[in-house]
Amino acid sequence: MFLEEKTAIVTGASRGIGKAIAVALAREGATVVINDLSQEAAEAAAAEIRANNGRAIAMAADVADSAQVETMVTRVMEECGRIDILVNNAGITRDTLLLRMKEEDWDAVLNVNLKGVFNCTKAVSRFMIKQRSGVIVNIASVVAVMGNIGQANYAAAKAGILGFTKAVARELASRGIRVNAVAPGYIQTDMTEKIPEEIKAKLIESIPLGFIGQPEDVAEAVLFLVSPAARYITGQTLHVNGGMVMV
Ligand code: NAP
Repeated sequence: MFLEEKTAIVTGASRGIGKAIAVALAREGATVVINDLSQEAAEAAAAEIRANNGRAIAMAADVADSAQVETMVTRVMEECGRIDILVNNAGITRDTLLLRMKEEDWDAVLNVNLKGVFNCTKAVSRFMIKQRSGVIVNIASVVAVMGNIGQANYAAAKAGILGFTKAVARELASRGIRVNAVAPGYIQTDMTEKIPEEIKAKLIESIPLGFIGQPEDVAEAVLFLVSPAARYITGQTLHVNGGMVMV
């Protein structure tokens, strides 16, 4: 239980990878703030964690909206007194070929997937700097390094996260704050449920380990990065993709 007495915020944590990360952090003793767009969905995930003897609080906020993020982070400080971990997980897709991509498809994905990471990181880092400690993990994607047809917006946002992670890791290192990214490959969640069957089969063929990852595979990588075992790791990207891309 290496996260006893620690407070963690996980964005987009009512389902999928974010929920698995929240469950893993709670299992190690952290009080987990479950953020999501919907208070009801966040509350359901928090209740599940509490039913398993974990500590969890639900807090709805749109990560793309800096005012909502500020309100959430202020509330976390009021209720928990500290913020030790931030996992920037909330993400969306608006897939389509470049020539069909509308400006709103671009803006929506960049606003949630990249600006959301900026908003949350900026809001918590103020308190982490005062504490002189903290760990931030940004959920990127394999698509950040390999690109993907139909995902110009998503790939740009996820590649942006990798640059952001390195810049902020350098800025905050002297304050005792580590910042890393996890880049998942093909993970079984609602997000990948939409992929047509024949494309899924091709994707699996491209994975050396030969199977689709589970949200828990990503959660374990996050758990490592927030643990004392990773105290000398900052500005890095941990790839969790079954060997799909080797960088
Ligand atoms: P998911 O099942 O679609 O869940 C995404 C979560 O983010 C949902 O809880 C959603 O809330 C929340 N969310 C969306 N927009 C938000 C906003 N503006 N503010 C706060 N929360 C918001 O996705 P997932 O597959 O678990 O993906 C999680 C992260 O991993 C994403 O960043 C994704 O890009 C990344 N990733 C996933 C895969 C994969 O194969 N699944 C691979 C690489 C990277 P609602 O329920 O209210 O919509």
